[in-house]
Amino acid sequence: MAKLYFYYSSMNAGKSTTLLQSSYNYNERGMQTLLFAPKFDDRSGEPMIHSRIGLKQKAILFSEGFNIYQSVNEAIDDKGKVHCILVDEAHFLSKSQVAQLVTIAKKLKIPVLCYGLRSDFLGEPFVGSQYLLTWADTLIEIKTICYCGSKATMNMRVDHTGKPVSSGSQIQIGGNESYMSVCMKHFIEELGVIEQLALVNNFEGCK
Ligand SMILES: [Zn+2]
Repeated sequence: MAKLYFYYSSMNAGKSTTLLQSSYNYNERGMQTLLFAPKFDDRSGEPMIHSRIGLKQKAILFSEGFNIYQSVNEAIDDKGKVHCILVDEAHFLSKSQVAQLVTIAKKLKIPVLCYGLRSDFLGEPFVGSQYLLTWADTLIEIKTICYCGSKATMNMRVDHTGKPVSSGSQIQIGGNESYMSVCMKHFIEELGVIEQLALVNNFEGCK
């Protein structure tokens, strides 16, 4: 039975590279893949998934109301058998889109590989990841490390001076801010200084 996989990690762990490598492995064996990526990620104007090491492949872009199940069926009608579905930035999927991916794996019997973050810069879960963590058949962690050497599980948004940011929208494209992958201890220490997040309050209360 085809499975739904969720490869999760913090930022900069090489998720897109891993996705593109997996797709390439299928293509090398003459098998067809379909790649999906969130629409706002189309920075260059061309629907592509890019990796930091220079790989790229064409993708179908999804926004909130987009039906992935329907799109896969149309692609099959158009181009024939599809062997694998790969979704980049899968944390941006909606609940119904994750349900569509379950249906693709179980009804169309096509393996679905999703790659995404578990939590946002405030430590809150993304909706897509919430349901992927709950509904995926297999969960695989792609590991990266904090500056202290521990495993990084959190995504800290920093401004252009490297100072942690504790407010703003969940989705941030471009701008002067960027992200650092950090361990939970350093996420709490760095953000706890500037704002009392729920996570930090609980941590303080347990002292
Ligand atoms: Zn650390």
